[in-house]
Amino acid sequence: MRNLQRALDALGIPCQTDCDLKKHSSFRIGGCADLGIFPQNREQLTKVLTLIRASEIPYLVIGKGSNVVFSDEGFTGAVIFTEGCRKMTREGDEILADAGVPLVRLATYALESSLGGAEFLHGIPGSLGGAVFMNAGAYGSSVSDVCICSEYFDSDTETVITLRGEAQRFSVRSSIYTDHPQWVILGARLALTPADPAEIRAKMEELASRRRTSQPLELPSAGSVFKRPVGNYAGKLIEDCGLKGYRIGDAEVSVKHAGFIVNRGNASAADVRRLVEHIRKTVLTQAGVTLECEIRFL
Ligand SMILES: Cc1cc2nc3c(=O)[nH]c(=O)nc-3n(C[C@H](O)[C@H](O)[C@H](O)COP(=O)(O)OP(=O)(O)OC[C@H]3O[C@@H](n4cnc5c(N)ncnc54)[C@H](O)[C@@H]3O)c2cc1C
Repeated sequence: MRNLQRALDALGIPCQTDCDLKKHSSFRIGGCADLGIFPQNREQLTKVLTLIRASEIPYLVIGKGSNVVFSDEGFTGAVIFTEGCRKMTREGDEILADAGVPLVRLATYALESSLGGAEFLHGIPGSLGGAVFMNAGAYGSSVSDVCICSEYFDSDTETVITLRGEAQRFSVRSSIYTDHPQWVILGARLALTPADPAEIRAKMEELASRRRTSQPLELPSAGSVFKRPVGNYAGKLIEDCGLKGYRIGDAEVSVKHAGFIVNRGNASAADVRRLVEHIRKTVLTQAGVTLECEIRFL
C-alpha cells in the first residue's frame, strides 16, 4: 500500500489513507477504506488502475456512492472515486461525458445545449459511470434509451474498449458491466434530440416536483431498495404488508415511500441488511413475490 501511495504522490494523484466511506455514501453508512484515490481526469484514472493491478491490491470503483451500502468494517484495499473525471463535450446532437460527471450536471448541460432526452437523469443523484453500470432510469426512461456507446478500461488486459448499442446488454437496472467488475467505465456517449429549452426545463421541473412529493429526499438513503417486480411495485407490496415505518436500529422503511429505506441517524450496514431480509421474507410470505435488491452491498 505504501508503494502505491508513493507512486500516486509522484504522479500528483490525490489520495487519502483511512478514507471515511460514510462521507462518500448517500446513505451515510460505512467504515473506512485503507486508501481513497481521487483521480482528476481519465488519464489519471487509467494510470491508477494500472498501478493497482500491478500492486495486486483489492479495489472498488465508486461514482457518487448513491446506490451502494458500504460495509461497517470498511474496505481492506483502495477505493477509487471517479468524481474528478468530469470532462463533457457536445458533438452535434450527442454528448460525450466522462464517468464521473454527475447526472444533474449532464442533464443541465443538455438543457443548455437545447438537447432533449436527458431530463429524467436530472433527479438521479449518481454519476454517469454508475448510471451506465446500473442502467439507471426514472419515469419511463432509462440510460439504455440514450447511451449509444460506452468506453471501459479492462484491468485484466489494460486496454480501452468501446461497446456500442446492444453490446452493452442493458436490462432492468443492469448492464454488461454488472457482470464484469474488472471493467471500469471511463465514459459514454449519449444521443439526444434537439428540443425547445423551455420544454426541457418544464419537464425537468415536473419530474423534480413528482420526486419531492413522493420520495424521502430529506433523509439519507440509496434510493429504491428493490427492483420493480413484473406487474407490480415494490413500494406498494411493502406498504400493503404494513411495513411502512418498520425499523431495525436506525434503518427504517420510509413512511413517505415504502420502497426506500432511510437512515434515521446512525444506521449500520448490518441494520440495513437485516431490514432488507425482513422485508423480503414478509413480502414473500404475504404476497408471494420475491423482491430482488437494486442497492448493492459492498
Ligand atoms: C434519493 C435517491 C434517488 C434515486 N433515484 C433513482 C432513480 O430514479 N433511478 C435510478 O435508476 N436510480 C436512482 N437512485 C440510485 C442511484 O442514484 C443510481 O443507481 C445511480 O446511477 C448510481 O450512480 P453512482 O455514481 O452513485 O453509483 P455508485 O453508487 O457509486 O456505484 C454503483 C455501482 O456502480 C459501480 N460503478 C460506479 N461507477 C463505475 C465506473 N465508472 N465503472 C464501473 N463501475 C462503476 C460501483 O462499483 C457500484 O457497484 C437514487 C438514489 C437516491 C439516493
